[in-house]
Amino acid sequence: MPLYDYKCDACHTQFEQDHPMSAPPVKICPHCGQDKVRKILSTGGVMSSGMSRSPAGPPPSSPCGMGGCGSGMCGM
Ligand SMILES: [Zn+2]
Repeated sequence: MPLYDYKCDACHTQFEQDHPMSAPPVKICPHCGQDKVRKILSTGGVMSSGMSRSPAGPPPSSPCGMGGCGSGMCGM
């Protein structure tokens, strides 16, 4: 049974709820009882979103120098 992440915009409580995909999503917050719950897309793991786009330096200006041109497009 898939596990879904929800967050309540009213009390900012984040919780997990497992229910079949055919079931309607949770709308009522179990903590404050308001219908401010929205589903969060979960990646199923611990991933920090701030680390995915760390600059690793500029790409090489000529891909042919790295052996990336295998089709002779560079004329070499
Ligand atoms: Zn709430």
